[in-house]
Amino acid sequence: MLDMILLCLIIFQIHQKSLNRVEKIINKKVIFEKGDLRDIDVLKNLFTKYKFDSVIHFAGLKAVGESVSNPLKYYDNNVNGTLKLLEVISLFGCKKIVFSSSATVYDEVDAANYIPLSEQNKTGKTTNPYGTSKYMIERILEDLYVSDNSFQIAILRYFNPVGAHESGTIGEDPNGIPNNLMPFIAQTAVGKREFLSVFGGDYDTHDGTGVRDYIHVVDLAIAHIKAIEYLNKSATKPLVVNIGTGKGYSVLDMVKSFSKASGVEIPYKISQRRAGDIAKCYAKPSFAKEILGWEAKKTLEDMCVDSWRWQKENPFGYKQTDC
Ligand code: UDP
Repeated sequence: MLDMILLCLIIFQIHQKSLNRVEKIINKKVIFEKGDLRDIDVLKNLFTKYKFDSVIHFAGLKAVGESVSNPLKYYDNNVNGTLKLLEVISLFGCKKIVFSSSATVYDEVDAANYIPLSEQNKTGKTTNPYGTSKYMIERILEDLYVSDNSFQIAILRYFNPVGAHESGTIGEDPNGIPNNLMPFIAQTAVGKREFLSVFGGDYDTHDGTGVRDYIHVVDLAIAHIKAIEYLNKSATKPLVVNIGTGKGYSVLDMVKSFSKASGVEIPYKISQRRAGDIAKCYAKPSFAKEILGWEAKKTLEDMCVDSWRWQKENPFGYKQTDC
């Protein structure tokens, strides 16, 4: 029996090299099947071929700004893809699910007034279609549980995942110009981008730039293992849990910390606010500790050092050159 399944969308290139490198790190063969989550036949074939114990559902588009300009793409990919997956999961009776949700599900007004965000904060009035797609999926999962409470569901609300594996062999390799802050800073440091545009310098934060809760991807990965362990021993209603550090850092804090880790000055210019962004967002992470026995261990320095190691050793990502 397989412990889990890796699902991704065919429209995005998974780099074969990243899988080879994962195999090297864990010294184990990784079974990988490429398919489009929205294609129900692909999923049925997969569930016929393998017997899964649980599903960790990571697949989805994730750029806030892009979701504002192309909402239908986000609803089709994220919501429609999930519906197909859940249909097949129900059909095959593999009912243990961990879902990658997001801090962007929190209500905008609530988020502005009640920081840090706890799982009890209001959700739904999101500021962008990405967040709405995650909110809709949370609702779908909750409704699914009401219809059949043999489902075991954990919803992990990620804050801002960054960093890379400490080996420097696997990390983030965005297609084209990075939408997210950390890969943009890393590419600026390595000389691929001329300067960072800081989206807004007049927010109500300690230095005017947006504040987020950055969490190291390795800490985040461990949270999924803890969630599966929790589901293995508890049959309860869907678990909803924040996965963050509880610390908020501004864009300029990130620039400073990355410069220190890399020894490279990061040129930046303050520009317009980005549509869909809010001033501050960071977690109250105590419930994760209480229920999962999980808390983030890595510091902002670890995140920057590991990101820089990955970027410096792989300036073209998984490709040999930039062409
Ligand atoms: N940001 C920025 N310049 C960039 C990318 C992001 O100033 O090129 C800011 C963005 O406005 C937000 C923070 O960095 O305040 C984190 O943005 P990111 O896209 O990484 O994550 P989000 O919080 O939007 O999911």
